[in-house]
Order: sequence, then C-alpha cells, then structure tokens
Amino acid sequence: QIEEPKIGEPQLLSGPRPQHVDSRTANVEERKKRTAKRKRMRRTPLEAFHLRYLCVTDLSAQVWCEQQAVYHKEKPSVQLPEKTTIVLNTGKSIHLARELQDHNLVPIKTRSREDGWAIKMINILLTITNLRKGQRVRECPVFGVIEGVFVFGIIDQLNYTAKGELQLNELKTRESAYMPVPAQKKRDRFQVSLYKHLFDAMVQGCLTQDIFIHHLHLKPKQSLGQEIQEHAQKAGFMVQCFEDLLELVLLNLTHSDIPAIDSLQIEYIHQKTNTLLGTEVITYNHDELMSMSHYFLAYWKGQRDPNGVDIEDTWKCSYCVFADVCDWRRQRADSLIQKGREKTT
Ligand code: SF4
Repeated sequence: QIEEPKIGEPQLLSGPRPQHVDSRTANVEERKKRTAKRKRMRRTPLEAFHLRYLCVTDLSAQVWCEQQAVYHKEKPSVQLPEKTTIVLNTGKSIHLARELQDHNLVPIKTRSREDGWAIKMINILLTITNLRKGQRVRECPVFGVIEGVFVFGIIDQLNYTAKGELQLNELKTRESAYMPVPAQKKRDRFQVSLYKHLFDAMVQGCLTQDIFIHHLHLKPKQSLGQEIQEHAQKAGFMVQCFEDLLELVLLNLTHSDIPAIDSLQIEYIHQKTNTLLGTEVITYNHDELMSMSHYFLAYWKGQRDPNGVDIEDTWKCSYCVFADVCDWRRQRADSLIQKGREKTT
C-alpha cells in the first residue's frame, strides 16, 4: 500500500535506480542531440515533406499564394469547404468526359513504384505514336529537371492546328459564369508555360536515364508487373524491367520528329452550363518563366522562407481555408497595428 504524502512533505518515488551519467557521456549525448536538431533544421522543405519531385501544380499554386501552397502540404487533413470539393469534383468529371472522347481508360494493378512510373512511360509512348499520326492526344505526362528539382505534370490536350502547328490546350472549369480575374490568369499562364518548357525539353532529347534513378530513386532492373508487361505488349512494346521501358521512351523521344509546342491556349468552361466562357491565348515568355521558377524553387530547396500574399492581394485571404491559422496574415496584422500605434504616438 502506498501512503499518500502530505502536501509539503518530500515525496519518494519508486522506480528504477537512476543511471550514473558522467560529464563526458552527458556531453556526447548533448552533442548528439544538437547535431540531430541542426540536421532537422537544415532539412529543405523537399526533404521535410519527403518529396522526390514536385508537380507543376505545386509550383503554379505558389503564384496564387506560396504560404497557402505550403499549408496544403503541412496540414493535408484540413478539410476544404464542401462547396470547393463539389467544384473540384465537377471539374474532374468534365475532364474525364473529355478524355473518354479520345481513348478508353484501362485499370492496371501496380505493385511497385517502378510500375507506377511505367504507366506514365507507356502513356508517353502512346502519345508519341498518336502525335506522329497527327492525332489529338489527351492527358500527356511531361517531366524534367529544373534547377536540380524533378518536376512532373500532365498536359490536358495537344493537337495540330489547321496550319499544322502543335498546340497545347488547357481546360479550366469554373463555377462562376465569368472569366477569371488577372491573378487566376497569371497562375494559369505560368502552369501552361511550364508544361511547354517540359514538353519541348523532352522532345529535344534532354531527358536522361540518370535523372529517374538519381531524383526518383527508381530501380532500373526492377521487373515490371505482369499486367504492365501485357499492356505494353498489346501497345506494341516488349519490355520486362523498368530500364527497358525507360530506354524505349528516351529513344523514341530523341528520334521522334515531334515538334516543340507552337502555341498555348486556355479554355475556360462554365461548369453548370458546360459552355465556353472564353479562350486565352498565352504568349510564352521563357525568361519570365525561368525567373519565376527560380524564385519558387528557392523555397523548396530551403534557400528562403515561404511568403504569403502581397498587401494588394489580401482579398485572397478571405477565400482561404487557412486564414485562421496563417502566420503570415497574423504578422501582417500585427505590423499594421504597430504602425498605427507609432502614428498616434
Ligand atoms: Fe495566403 Fe492569405 Fe491564406 Fe495566409 S490567409 S495562406 S496569406 S491566402
């Protein structure tokens, strides 16, 4: 039976005898802890979020609000408002309906990361085949390395115009029955420009086997799943391991006579009526794209802290699901209060 000690009396705790720790051991432990902390602090956001690559949409989200893009990664469990989820799902259905106009979707079981990437590779091979025939293609995967970071995206549609030029067509669906505001157009312009940059580099033979191994840590000798091998065979490609497929893709890209993308356009569709609200023709500006990419990637590489919206864009905060927890917003509000105080004194 354990007697309850009276308040103020010394308390004797039972338990294992404390281990003797001499000052040298303590110093080593302390040093270990400090090194571990330093390592944690030194981790770049890419490492901290365990990301081997970024999606084009990760970078285009930074055009809207970088802090918001980071919160989406940090707090993935934060629920989007029901209305937003409905809008997103309706958008997905419209995209799917368009995709099904051109090809069927074949469900394939994957059993390794290499299988997952193999599906993207097979889709690229099919894209090359269809573009060579002059056909329209949808959902075309693109990837490449920008400033040391692997970037992946999916182009909605590529087709040849009456003049024989290769055109990228991005579909954006909207809940509102009017064209987007300039801030949304800026984000969309960046997104399609980045697609063009990645696609052009691919067909110009800039991809190497090494980047898939180095950045994505894929195993070249990993044998592909039975379903993947069968599907590839049906499409006319004999492959057994991931490396076979990779070599085939790189060979086809390098020796294909597919041109770079000549023109970029974005179609805005009203979700409810499925009618075209308008089309934006985008002028590709390589220097602007590279400078924006450099700035956005600097965050992911741990070279700077994330930024929230500029003062003239604070209207975006009223639509933001993180508005109540946003440090950037709070700091902005605090500094405004401080400035107000300074003025009155
Ligand atoms: Fe960005 Fe404003 Fe949202 Fe903060 S509250 S994440 S600054 S949009």
